[in-house]
Amino acid sequence: MSARILDGKAIAKQVESELAQRIGALSARGVTPGLAVVLAGDDPASAIYVKHKERAALRLGLHARTVTLPAQVEPSTVAAEIDALNADDAIHGILVQLPLPAGIGPEETRALLQRVDPDKDVDGFHPVNLGRLVAGEPGFVACTPSGCMRLIAESGVDPAGRHAVVIGRSVIVGKPMALLLLAADATVTICHSRTPDLPAQVRAADIVVAAVGRARMVQASWIKPGAVVIDVGMNRDADGRLCGDVDTRAVAEVAGAVTPVPGGVGPMTIAGLMQNVVWAAERRAGIVPNAATVE
Ligand code: NDP
Repeated sequence: MSARILDGKAIAKQVESELAQRIGALSARGVTPGLAVVLAGDDPASAIYVKHKERAALRLGLHARTVTLPAQVEPSTVAAEIDALNADDAIHGILVQLPLPAGIGPEETRALLQRVDPDKDVDGFHPVNLGRLVAGEPGFVACTPSGCMRLIAESGVDPAGRHAVVIGRSVIVGKPMALLLLAADATVTICHSRTPDLPAQVRAADIVVAAVGRARMVQASWIKPGAVVIDVGMNRDADGRLCGDVDTRAVAEVAGAVTPVPGGVGPMTIAGLMQNVVWAAERRAGIVPNAATVE
């Protein structure tokens, strides 16, 4: 079998064209959705991610602002910037680019993420939005899992009644991913570093989402024929090449659909972010009454 390759770039373009209409409706009310990114330190990967986000926002005609802070920044300075953005009416969505510089520890990072107004939390990392997801209430959903759900939808496989296996349990990918699949009526297994016999777990899956951070870990022999395989991983292999968590070439011989790296989940994460910013602006403008999940 040769799997369908789920082209994240093309689907992200489709999402952007769907958003263009909504942005037009906002513009007719005099509203330009605004995204602010707080970028602290000089991590080269973060700088690239922020550029991509900024570019996508500008392409869509959104207002984009990046607050750049030095690597030696005090947490109190980052907090003051977040406070200012929370109070700024031109800004509908705020994200704090992770990782923060090494001088800012995990507790301080958590506190800073929680300082973002939950109604501007377009990354969906605030406990209020995570809680809404758990409770099945509308709220901001983390961009990567939400982009993965769209990729699964594009595969033509309805998660309802299927068995989904999520490898990884981080707060930004694995857990929200599992909750979204559950909300879509899949039966969900969450695997992690302490899961015994991971290949056997994955073999039972109609839908596999790999969010581990280990180059080409998921092998073709782990995949049920015809399964949908979503590869969130962004790794460098021994030769320094960008690759995912899935051995894509071999897996494509068994799976029904698979996402490439690059060009799969990455562009969909950015599309999910844009959707969250537009929704934040719609909500403030009273176009939608409540928080919305990303469709
Ligand atoms: P984390 O490091 O926070 O989480 C990794 C998860 O994988 C953990 O739950 C860990 O288990 C689990 N894990 C580690 N080793 C194994 C193993 N051998 N077997 C089974 N499970 C294992 O990573 P993130 O969730 O933040 O990111 C995962 C990957 O996705 C990374 O490559 C990251 O770069 C990429 N990513 C890509 C994005 C995109 O837009 N394309 C966006 C976000 C992330 P445990 O909890 O037990 O430690």
